[in-house]
Amino acid sequence: MWHPIRLARRLMGAHRWARHALWAVAGSGGMGTMGYVGGVCIRVHDRLLAETDSPEYAADISLNPLSGWRWPTWRAPGIPTVWLWVAAIVVVVVAMAVLVACWPMRKPDNPFDRDPRRLFSDADREFITQCTGNQCEHRMCGLIRCPRMGEQMDHHYPWSRGGATSRRNLVWLCAKHNRRKSDRVPSRLSTWLLVRARESYWPRGERAAMIPDGMADMAHGPDDGVGVGA
Ligand SMILES: [Zn+2]
Repeated sequence: MWHPIRLARRLMGAHRWARHALWAVAGSGGMGTMGYVGGVCIRVHDRLLAETDSPEYAADISLNPLSGWRWPTWRAPGIPTVWLWVAAIVVVVVAMAVLVACWPMRKPDNPFDRDPRRLFSDADREFITQCTGNQCEHRMCGLIRCPRMGEQMDHHYPWSRGGATSRRNLVWLCAKHNRRKSDRVPSRLSTWLLVRARESYWPRGERAAMIPDGMADMAHGPDDGVGVGA
């Protein structure tokens, strides 16, 4: 289930910054390797020269360009070590919180790369307007619901990335929030918050479409309609 390569691929697909970070790491690793190999070549050259000039000392020249190198030790003047540790722990905790907040939701298990049907129907518009009370479903900071009227039907999991044109992948947004979401893959956290919020306004009889595709593990009863099909 938690296959590291598959997880990494999911993260890469959904987030441009993850791709850039990978390129940065790979690039600096490659440059470091080339630098090291270059250093070895120079040392080999020095040793070959030494073997003709002063063969008795030639063996003293190490072929490793990093021999004798030590990690520089640095201490912040006047800052107690304990504060450096506190700062390091805060950075790690914040980084983990950001990772959790950005972690993309699972790609819905659809039998196509792109749904042949792109647009929602008028009946879908009628349906989502009723289910949401015609209010935008975006929540600011994931908590406070946008007070504007909904205007546009949006594929929760983007159509361009394989999301279905189905009521189980439909959210009702105002124009501003639809524009802002564009074709980004929603995070698992924001989808979870959406479902939690929907529980308070979604009509009981329509629960089959309340939990978006790809979040089947949030269902807690037959009412939630998971497995009924899109
Ligand atoms: Zn809005």
